[in-house]
Order: sequence, then structure tokens, then C-alpha cells
Amino acid sequence: FEDINDALEMYKGDWKKVTGLLGGKGANLARMCAIGITVPSGFTISTECCNKYLELGNEFPEGMWDQALIALKKVEENTGKKIGDKKNPLLVSCRSGAAQSMPGMMDTVLNIGLNDETAKAMVELTNDERFVYDSYRRLVQGFGAIVLGIDDEKFEHPLGNYKKEKGFKFDNELKADNWKEVLELYNAVIKKEKGIEFPQDPMEQIKMSIKAVFSSWNVPRAIQYRERTGIPHTLGTAVNLQTMVFGNMGEEHSGTGVAFTRNPSNGKKEIFGEFLFNAQGEDVVAGIRNALPISALNDKLPKCYEQFIQECAKLENYFKEMQDVEFTIEQGKLYFLQTRNAKRTAVSRFKTMFDMVEEGLIDKKTAIKRISPSDVDMMLHPQFDPNVLKLAQKQGKLFATGVAASPGAAVGKMYFSSKKCVEMAKEGPVIMCRPFTKPDDVDGMFASKGLFTAEGGATSHAAVVARQFGIPCVVGCNVIIDEEKKTVTINGITLNEGDWVSIDGTTGSIYSAKIPTIQVKLEEQKHFMSILQWCDEFCSKEGIRDIKNGPSRGLMVWANADTAEDATRARSFGAQGIGLCRTEHQFLGDRAGILREFILTEDKDKKKEALDKLEVLQTKDFEELFIAMTDLPVVVRLIDPPLHEFLPDLLELTREVYELRGKGEKNEEKELMLKKAEQMHESNPMLGLRGVRLSIVLRQLVAMQTTAITQGAINAKKKGFNPVPEIMIPLVGHPNELKEIQPEVEEVSQNLLKKNNVEIEIKIGTMIEIPRACLVAPQLTKYAKFFSFGTNDLTQMTFGYSRDDAESGFLLKYVDNNILPNNPFKSVDQIGVGRLIKMCVDEGRESQPMMDVGVCGEHGGDPKSIKFFSEAGLTYVSCSAYRVPVARLSACHAIL
Ligand code: ADP
Ligand code: MG
Ligand code: MG
Repeated sequence: FEDINDALEMYKGDWKKVTGLLGGKGANLARMCAIGITVPSGFTISTECCNKYLELGNEFPEGMWDQALIALKKVEENTGKKIGDKKNPLLVSCRSGAAQSMPGMMDTVLNIGLNDETAKAMVELTNDERFVYDSYRRLVQGFGAIVLGIDDEKFEHPLGNYKKEKGFKFDNELKADNWKEVLELYNAVIKKEKGIEFPQDPMEQIKMSIKAVFSSWNVPRAIQYRERTGIPHTLGTAVNLQTMVFGNMGEEHSGTGVAFTRNPSNGKKEIFGEFLFNAQGEDVVAGIRNALPISALNDKLPKCYEQFIQECAKLENYFKEMQDVEFTIEQGKLYFLQTRNAKRTAVSRFKTMFDMVEEGLIDKKTAIKRISPSDVDMMLHPQFDPNVLKLAQKQGKLFATGVAASPGAAVGKMYFSSKKCVEMAKEGPVIMCRPFTKPDDVDGMFASKGLFTAEGGATSHAAVVARQFGIPCVVGCNVIIDEEKKTVTINGITLNEGDWVSIDGTTGSIYSAKIPTIQVKLEEQKHFMSILQWCDEFCSKEGIRDIKNGPSRGLMVWANADTAEDATRARSFGAQGIGLCRTEHQFLGDRAGILREFILTEDKDKKKEALDKLEVLQTKDFEELFIAMTDLPVVVRLIDPPLHEFLPDLLELTREVYELRGKGEKNEEKELMLKKAEQMHESNPMLGLRGVRLSIVLRQLVAMQTTAITQGAINAKKKGFNPVPEIMIPLVGHPNELKEIQPEVEEVSQNLLKKNNVEIEIKIGTMIEIPRACLVAPQLTKYAKFFSFGTNDLTQMTFGYSRDDAESGFLLKYVDNNILPNNPFKSVDQIGVGRLIKMCVDEGRESQPMMDVGVCGEHGGDPKSIKFFSEAGLTYVSCSAYRVPVARLSACHAIL
């Protein structure tokens, strides 16, 4: 193509395709040309050629070289210079550039076209022998390293020796003759290492450089980088051949720099960058000399500075996005060498997007589209100080990796038991390390800044609890923990109790280093708040959705929360309701004992006593919860988990009793408990006495819980709040189960309301977790006024995978071996489980068109799943408080 617009026309205006063909660097160089920004003359060889070249076993595809020669002619015409000319030689750079940037992975050769002859011509032209021979030796060095694959060390070493010998400290002390001598040393290196002479023919130099850039696509570090970042291996790199401009032609009018059009850390609208006088190429980035702030340019070359500022504005106006540019000034003339959309911190991302909407540069939709779920995550959770992190990575401090289970960074001293973590947390930050976690470990988790486990997957206990409470967590690290010796080992490296570790729950990495973290103050982030507000507005017809006015455009986001404190946090993150309050979480700690007493005792009075105690405690809990969520719905689920979670551990109990018996003692209470526990023991507790079945078997629990919920609401109302309670019956598979329980819930609550002379609407609904429930949705609507999908259980039962075991066993292997496309506990299986969901929603809404249908499983916080739920026509997703902002963004992405 002569012009970028021709390419664009051919691809029907699709910039993505054009960029795929020309690479990011090439496409943007062409776009800069098209809008009149000064770019050194050049041309781009497409990624297609690269792929073909590799396919042919390192041969240029037919016709490519001929086309390159024609393009080169054009460049010669444009510049009035000629390749290899003895009077006015053209020098070029050969630059790699893939569609997606892979910083530092592939290479660029500068100063191509210099040889013994053209060097002399350049001296005539520039009258600067030092500059010419410095450039020439840079070519030989770059060519040797990049094209011929000679280790950089092999060049650095003789240069170092030479400088020592001559008493030089810095490169800029070397004179022309010195560089000539270094050049000879370098030529000798090539001869010695490769047995060839540095090619004097410029055309040969060009050809070999193009081949080297093509081949660099498949060097191991580039392959590894793509594996890590998910860039497809099939894209290939483009090659840009471009006239050299020189920032190293003296201290006065030449130099090179890099800049951002806005501040990449905080987003402030100001040019932010660095500049070096008398420098070439990578000198700024490499930090060889201290670069100056961009304003230094204004002091010395104000006209250039002025032009630079204007052209940066022009670039932003054209790309409608913050840019990151590389530029060079050659004897007072400004050239742009590269521009691309700038990487920036999450804080900067939110501010720049907000500002650009205010400036009228982009609309709200565009701004929202450019924000990613991980930007939101980064705002909510502490992050490592990027400089220290880089250092730690360089020093090989990455200790282990696992499943990124709960986002955020944390640092502390590592301990191996819950108790020790609680104890040591008084003295400083701690990190918990466990094989896996159980409810017993929760105290230690709360005391810790973060945790990592050897086993488990994304829905393991550790992961779920950590996410709910915003504790950074990595699971399934495959480390070996020796709890006696108090060590943890992997890959031959062992850490001891009390060692500093840093964990990143966003990437799933554990470092054996102390890396400080940075936390953003959300209250101060009005841009963040405003943009999420825009998301809500797009999703709803008018601001916050009015439940009575029917389904909104997109999903609402509710939260899973068990306590008033949880709920308050969720509300501050923008939750529009509580989709799941797990009542059994109120039975933790001391209260577990009361419930256990209720279950185990045969004595009627004792049973009643235990229930009454629980009722008082729960009533208070609910009252506080409803007050915290006044005006917004709160879905309370009746007791749900398998019974054994409330019973003593059977093995342990058996051991205890037998030990006592062995000593000739007989503890009546323990004996009874064991008998009862044996009776209640189930082989498959997850398919056993749980959910609605518990309510049916332990009948008194239903009335107690309903009373506590209703009374809690009445109390809140009497205090002037507006509670909106809803009661959810879990794990229903047959309508008769609802028929059994729902009327009692209705009766108990209505009687209590009447007795108190208070009017509150209490909706009763059901949780859909068993495939059969999906198949009989219309029959359920007779008793249920809302549905809420428990997608964890629904996934478990539809696949027949135990969610507690699958992820530490075969499931991840399935994913690795492409037997499954992804982990269905992380992102909902749209084809199978999704089909059940869709069927259930559609058939359920046939009889109850305005029915609320939500999701309250872990999938409610997963962006991909959210898109699916939105399309399935759900009313809301409910996720842990810390996922609420991400879900708000994703709900909006789903409808834009
Ligand atoms: P990367 O993709 O690693 O940034 P580039 O192709 O941008 O590699 O090249 C690295 C540096 O080399 C550029 O930042 C620029 O300073 C310098 N450079 C590349 N081409 C030229 C050129 N034609 N004239 C002057 N300097 C160049
Ligand atoms: Mg660059
Ligand atoms: Mg469930």
C-alpha cells in the first residue's frame, strides 16, 4: 500500500485487521504520516511475510524482496539519499513490531548501511568523525548480537578492557580514533565467533537484518512471553525499515526522548517524559545517563518543544486515547519514531477516561469499554510497589505459583497454623501457609494479610472465604509443607516459619521477599466512583432500578453478605441488594455449640432451650442486616450446609472415645455423641441431609429461622427503617419440597406481622441448584416468587464433579489437556449448565413474567459468566462485596 488509507479501505475500516497486518508500530507510523506528523521515511513488511518466511523454513516468500527494493527506491527518492552511496548514503533502522506489543522481546538494528566507504562519506557530510565511528561500531555490535546471535558480553568485554587501558570512564570520553580502534576490536569479535567478516554490502546487511527480525518471533523468550500473556503464536511480526535520524549529532540541537501525553501514574493532564541531548536509540530507556525531564527541552530548544506539545495534542485528538511516544531531534528537526496507546496504572486509567469524557474527546461508552475488570480490581486491592517487584523478579525471588484465588497483594512473615498466625499478627503482618483450609482456620485467615495453600482450586474453602473477605489468596501451589519442621519447600528451595513472603492473589505468585504494597484510597477516587455510576445508569432504565418497575436493560449487582458489617461494605461498593445471606455463617464460633446441642440432644426441653437461644441471637443479626440495607432487598437463605459440618469430626470423636475406653473410663456424654454422630454419618454428605431436606427433617428450625427473620424486620421497621426481606429455600429438586415448607414460612411470618401490627412484604423464593429443579421450573413458581441460581452446586450436580475435590484432582488436568475448555467452577459452562439456566428462566417467567431471577454462586463475580447471565435475561448477579465493582463494570460491558 502507498497509503494507510488504502489498507484501511481494503479491510473495510477495520483497524484491528490493519494493525494485525502491519503490526502496531508499523500501522501507527503510517497513521502518523497520514495526519501530517513528521516521521522518518520508511516502509513496513507485513506480518504475513513473516509467517510465510517461517513456514518456508527461513526463505523470503516469492516477490517480497522485489517489493522491498521498490519501496526502498521510494525512500531514496523521498530523502535524496542512496543506499551505499559514496556521497550521500542512506542509513536505515530495521525494527520489529508485532500486532500486540511484546516489550523487550524482539530486536531492532540501527545504523544499517554504514561500511568503510559510507562512513567516510558520512564524515564528509557531518564533519563529525566521532559521531560517525560511534554509530558504525554500534551497527557492528548490534548486527553481531542481533543478526549473528553473538552474546552481548563478547562486545562489552573488549570495550571495557579498552576503556580501562586508555583510562576512560564513560563512553562519551572516547574520541573518533578510539571508536575506530574499538570498531576493529568488534570486527575481530565477529570473525572469531562466526568465522565471517562483517558484511560491507549494505543490501546484504538489510537482507540479513530482516531475516533476523522475522526469526526473532520464535526465539524462546518471545515464545515464553506469548505463553504467559496469551498472545497467539500465529500472529507473526512485521518489519519496519526506516531512515535513520540522529539524536547523537551534538549537545546543542540533537537528542532523543520518550514521553506520555498524560501522567501514567496519576492521570494528570500534562506531558510526562524524559529527554537526553546527544543520544541515540535506547539510551534513554536503558538509563545509561541520567535523563532530563521533558521541560529541559523547553529551556534549550523552545521551538521544538512547542511543536512537540502541539503534535502530542494532535496525536491524542486523532487516536482519542492517551499516547506513549518515542521521538528524536536531529539538529533542531523533530521526528516521531513511535506512538501507541499508553499503559498506565488503574488510577491513571480512571482519571484519563473520566477527563476525556469531560473534554468531549470520547463518549461514556467508549470510556467504559476501555476499562478492564483488572483495572477495577487494582483499585480495590493493594498492589506491590512495581519497582521493588521488578527487582525481586530479577533476583529470582519467585518462589511458587498457583491458582489466583482472591486478588490483591500482601506481605508478611509466614506461619503454618491458624493459632500461630493469630498470635504473631499482634507483632506484625503475617501470611498464612496451609495445605488447605477448613472452617477452623478462619480465625487465622482473618488475622493474616494473605494466605496460600498447597492444595485446592478456585472454589475451595480457602478461595471462597478469602474472596468474601478480600484477603489476597493463592491456592493449589503444589508446595510441600512440613508442619513439624515448620518449613515449606518447592523446587529444592525451602522457607522457614517466620520468613518474609509476598503473595499476589491477582497473578497467583508467591515471592520469597518482602515487597511493600500500595493501597489506593477509594473515597478519594471520584473518577472511579463516577465511572461505575455511569455503568449502573446504562444498565438500568433510570438510575438504580426500581424493583416494582420490572426488568432493567442490564443486570443489577447484588452482594453475598452475612452480617451488617459485610453488607455495609457491599453497599459502599455499590451493591443494590443482598442476594445471599448464608444464615449458617451466623452459627460460627460459640454458636456452633448451641446448634450442635440442638441436633444431638434427645431431651425436648434442651432442644427448645437451644433453639430459643439461637432465635434471640439471629433476630438481632437480621435486624442489623436489614437496617444496614434499608430500602434494598435482602435474600436470607434458610439453613443449607450438610449436617456433618455442625457435628464433631467422627474420626476424632471415635479416637477420643476409644482412648477413654482403653483407660477404663466411660464418658456418657461423649459415648452418646458418638452414637448419634455415627447414626447421622453419611457417605455422600453433599448429596445428603442438606438444604431444604434439613428443614424438613429438623422441622423446628424452619419456624425458628422464619421468626428470627420476620422479627428482625419488624424491629428494623419500628426503628424507622425500611426492611425488604426475602426468604429463600435452598436445594429444592421437587415442588413437593416447597409445598411442604413454603406454607409454614408464610404462616409463621404472617402471624408474627399481624401480631405486631406491621406490614412488610416478605417474598418467598427458592434456590435453583439441582438440575431437576431447572426441568420443572413452572411447577416451582406455584410456591416460589423468585429464583436464584446457586451455580456452584448446579455445576457440581450437572457435571457430577465434586466441587470440593475436582479442582485438586483431575479437573485442572482436564483443562490443561483441553478435555474441558475451561474450569466450569470459575466461568459458567454456557452450553450445558447454561442451557439448564436458560430453560429455567424462560419457563419460569412464562407463568411469572416479572419474577426476579438471580445468580448467587461464585460465577456472579466472573466477567465472562456475567455476560452470559445478562444475555439469559437474569435480573441480578450476587457476588462477594469485593467483586461488586468488577461486576458492575462487567454487567455494563455485557450490554454495550
Ligand atoms: P522497541 O520496539 O524495542 O521500542 P524500536 O524499534 O522502537 O524498538 O527501536 C528502539 C529505539 O531505536 C527507538 O526508541 C529509537 O530511539 C531508535 N530508533 C529506531 N529506529 C530509528 C530511526 N529510524 N532513527 C533513529 N532512531 C531509531
Ligand atoms: Mg520503541
Ligand atoms: Mg448450594
